[in-house]
Amino acid sequence: MREKKAKKIVFNSAEEMPLMIASVGSQTHNLTGAWRNIRPEIDLGKCLKCGICWKFCPEPSIDIVDEWPVVDYDYCKGCGICAEECPAKCIVMVEERR
Ligand code: SF4
Ligand code: SF4
Repeated sequence: MREKKAKKIVFNSAEEMPLMIASVGSQTHNLTGAWRNIRPEIDLGKCLKCGICWKFCPEPSIDIVDEWPVVDYDYCKGCGICAEECPAKCIVMVEERR
């Protein structure tokens, strides 16, 4: 069987992305940060303030504070989606140390 490759959709800003429904109801009681064995670290010196990491984060555990992304490590589960989607490649996943 031939493998079918999906084309990656690239967004340059959060405004280009479709609207998504997010619920934080029961998630606020579920501290998913305990699942994490790698953590995202953001180099704000390279950040474009595009908000794409915020929009892609499935928890959601990225806040935008004064236009800058801030990770809430109580909820970040270390999935790495933010690092994968960041257009500036300024998010690095590093080993978690507890
Ligand atoms: S690693 Fe996953 S859960 Fe953590 S901030 Fe990035 S996208 Fe969100
Ligand atoms: S960390 Fe990356 S994805 Fe997030 S706002 Fe900055 S440039 Fe955009």
